[in-house]
Amino acid sequence: PYVKSMEIIERPNVTFKDIGGLKEQIRELREVVELPLKNPELFEEIGIEPPKGVLLYGPPGCGKTLLAKAVAHESGATFISIVGSELVQKFIGEGARIVREVFQYARKKAPAIVFIDEIDAIAARRLDIGTSGEREVQRTLMQLLAEIDGFKPLDKVKIIAATNRIDILDPAILRPGRFDRLIEVPLPDLNGRYEIFKVHTRKMKLGRDVDLYELARLTEGATGAEIKSIVTEAGYNAIRNNRKYVIREDFIYSIKKVMSKKKIRDKNTE
Ligand code: ATP
Repeated sequence: PYVKSMEIIERPNVTFKDIGGLKEQIRELREVVELPLKNPELFEEIGIEPPKGVLLYGPPGCGKTLLAKAVAHESGATFISIVGSELVQKFIGEGARIVREVFQYARKKAPAIVFIDEIDAIAARRLDIGTSGEREVQRTLMQLLAEIDGFKPLDKVKIIAATNRIDILDPAILRPGRFDRLIEVPLPDLNGRYEIFKVHTRKMKLGRDVDLYELARLTEGATGAEIKSIVTEAGYNAIRNNRKYVIREDFIYSIKKVMSKKKIRDKNTE
């Protein structure tokens, strides 16, 4: 509340049912985040330490934020999120202080999950730290590492970070005791796309000619976010045509629309 740069959700309303596919990722997150938050005694008895931090990596729009929110929901944890790029671009000179305050707040609100999106913006490997901007980023990273090192594996605060640039991260953050668990969140495969279509059409009235497997086949390369927007566009098209339900043609139209926009965008970022 006193830091404008963090978003706080008492308990996110996203559940694992809202996530299409990613079963293995969900299983792993439950084991390394939810279980130690809920049953720390299991770890004490057996004598092992769960990771303090988990790093989710993979292309944008495939469910990293969704996973982090869902695991917070299932753990009954407060979800506190910050965005790496904002720390260094929007709140210039305040990065280290914000990081400190976020962790203070997390301790107060425990059990809590601190989610750091775009962590690469503060944790990229740097060859020289000449300019003052670079030094500021470096200070923010140092503060983050100090905070992580400062609590114990069984304290009721867990950190989940996300990046789509794991290749540029400073190895310092991947050291044991920090983000020592890496979970890949890849582009969905055929079955993943089918599952994501299923999630997003859950509340939709579908015509009998709609085959979600066919839609999955027609959307190779699409992210979860793109599938969501395909479903929304199809719904719009049905409304435009004064129908109360969505038919195959609506989807064919929206797939063309979203996938061709995507092609242009992918070209521009190549
Ligand atoms: P970014 O790197 O851009 O932050 P992200 O991986 O965190 O991406 P999300 O924010 O989780 O992606 O996904 C964006 C939206 O796309 C979600 O709110 C959801 O509607 C949809 N989405 C993405 N992946 C999935 C999925 N596996 N199942 C269901 N919906 C998904």
